[in-house]
Amino acid sequence: MENTPTANPLMQKLKLPGRVFQLPSRGALYNNGEVASAEGEVHVHAMSALTEINLKNPDQLFNGKALEEVCRECVPEIKKPSGLFGRDVDALMFFLRVVTYGPQFEINVKHTCEGAKNHSYTVDIERMIQEMKFLDPTTKFEVNLQNGQKVVLHPVKFDHMIKLFQMNANKQELSADDVKANIIFNLTSLIESVDGITDRAQIEDWAKALTTPMQNRITEMIEKMNDWGPATTTKLKCRDCGEEVEVELPLNPISFFTE
Ligand SMILES: [Zn+2]
Repeated sequence: MENTPTANPLMQKLKLPGRVFQLPSRGALYNNGEVASAEGEVHVHAMSALTEINLKNPDQLFNGKALEEVCRECVPEIKKPSGLFGRDVDALMFFLRVVTYGPQFEINVKHTCEGAKNHSYTVDIERMIQEMKFLDPTTKFEVNLQNGQKVVLHPVKFDHMIKLFQMNANKQELSADDVKANIIFNLTSLIESVDGITDRAQIEDWAKALTTPMQNRITEMIEKMNDWGPATTTKLKCRDCGEEVEVELPLNPISFFTE
């Protein structure tokens, strides 16, 4: 039998207070009990090394189990992790990183300038959290198509990303049928309704018959919908040439959760 934290005096000093953060979606647009708090405020506790193992296990990571495990232990207000928007999940990774490891993150970067060497740079994760872009809860993700039909969309969700990953896993090259399946999957899972109709099967049949210009109009909106949350790149000053360089942060848990 495991000792409960209250019964075991050794556990007391491991129970750090953690911190309260606001999800960049502000909890707006969730209506299936995904987050049990007002305005997307969540209390985030440090991750134990054992929980971190789940997050770094590719099988668990890509079937969504790891996020469930981590939320259960560290972010109790999140009740349905796989229903979260992908951008809220990205923000959670920043929160967990800060709470568990502190505000600084070291990355190794080699610039493309002549004679550049590999250097270690410090990224201020705390500042990136402060500068995170919030979703305006009044935003309407609506598109009017060329034929007058009205499409309502929502930002990409974590379970969608997991499903898309699984659809394409272990495929060296996508066939024409794979590409078609991806397009239809993307459209149908991001569309809330068309002309007020929410029936999945009807939306799928409809999506299959769209023209390219119609598809493009929806895709433009899909790209704009995820323009919030934490930045995924940061600017560094190259130590060899002094130029400012924009670098992509390695946000996958395998490299993001390291000392
Ligand atoms: Zn350089």
